[in-house]
Order: sequence, then structure tokens, then C-alpha cells
Amino acid sequence: MKRTSHESADNLAVDRRSFLGTALGACAISPLGSWSMQLAASMSGSLTKEQRDSMTPSQVIDELKKGNERFRAGKMAARDYLAEKRSSAAGQYPAAVILGCVDSRVPAEIVFDVGIGDTFNGRVAGNVVNDDLLGSMEFACAVSGAKLVLVLGHTACGAIKGAIDDVVLGNLTGLLARIKPAIPETKFEGEKSSKNPAYVDAVARTNVKVSIENIRLRSPVLVDLEKKGSIQITGAMYNLANGVVDFVS
Ligand SMILES: [Zn+2]
Repeated sequence: MKRTSHESADNLAVDRRSFLGTALGACAISPLGSWSMQLAASMSGSLTKEQRDSMTPSQVIDELKKGNERFRAGKMAARDYLAEKRSSAAGQYPAAVILGCVDSRVPAEIVFDVGIGDTFNGRVAGNVVNDDLLGSMEFACAVSGAKLVLVLGHTACGAIKGAIDDVVLGNLTGLLARIKPAIPETKFEGEKSSKNPAYVDAVARTNVKVSIENIRLRSPVLVDLEKKGSIQITGAMYNLANGVVDFVS
């Protein structure tokens, strides 16, 4: 993304708020009026280092929430993937690293309406933590400068159901073992079975919290960045039925 010399500080502030690809619909309600089209046109590239570095972790969360609202409203940004590919080829400055599930129905870039170069994404069944994912998150934040670690669980998660049912199958057995600590941690009144969607979702929510605890337990690098206020570590649940991302902590 290139800036023209006449762009004002106000405009930069708007860009920061809108970094992840402001939808035309969102522009239309901008109080800046005539800036709207310029702003929309300016979103034909990936997040720049200046935009990413100028944001706080909580502003990154706000942008993800806004992107999810655009997704749910069917008003996603008019994105030029080829322009994003070109603008990010020489360097990437993602604002967040998202640890999500492999589930085909939870593509983070789509449900948050972000583009190429905007977020790092690690995906593993049940969004559990392991050494390689921790290393990836440390790379994302300590080396590349991302501001947010987001653990993204979801409703009706098959991996959670598998852990509840004690499924034994090849390498899946070991993966499900990483989810199992969330089961006794889940306070739930009612039928505790994989057939009960409310219970499955309650365990999935606990599992997000367990993953966050594991990140803090096992990554002094990330904990140090969090203590300095450079990053925030948080979690969210994505609802497959209505598309809502609910930040849980
Ligand atoms: Zn899942």
C-alpha cells in the first residue's frame, strides 16, 4: 500500500482502525465522508509495517471483531487478492497469530474477513498447543511483530467429541490426549455426552482456556511479551451456525 504525501494524520488513524480491509459498507458510515472512497481504494494491499506497529493488541481484537461483523452481514471487503499478493511479497507484517482447528468450516481469514498478509494461522484438530505451534507463535510475535495470540475454538468440534468419546485411532489418540484435560475442568449440569451439543461446546470453551494456559506455561517468550504489553493472549469461540465469534477471555 502506497501513501500520497497529502495524507493527513487523521487519515492514518482511520487506516489503523480499518487495517484488515474495511468494507465499502463500513466506509459508507465513516464520519469522514469524502475520505471514504479513498480509504476503500487504499485497502487494495496488505497490512503495512507502519499500520501494524501503530496498533495496540486491543485494537487488533477490535479489527477482528469488525471483520467478523462484515462476514456475518455478507458485507466483506472488496478484496484484490492479486494486489495483496504483490504488496506482501517483499515482506509480511501480520497483526495476529491465530491458533484454530482444522475443521473445514472455520477458515479464520474468511470468518474475520482478513486478507493475504494480515494474520498468521496455525491449524490443528482441537486447536491444541504443542512445541511446534508454540515455536510458530513465538516466531509470529517475537520475530515478526504480531500483536495478538488468538486461540480460536468452535462449536460442534469433532475433535472435542472424539476426546469425550475416548476415540482410539493411530496418531489421533495422542492428539486427543491433549484435549482431555479440558473434560474434567468443564463445569456442566446435564448430560455429559458427545451427543449433547451444549456439553460439547462447553468442553470446547474450556479447551480454549486450557490452550491459553498452556501457552503461558510453556512459552516464557510470549509471557514476557505479554507482560510488557507488546502482545495480548486471548481466546474465542466460533459458532458454526450463526457465524459469531465470541471472545471468551
Ligand atoms: Zn474442530
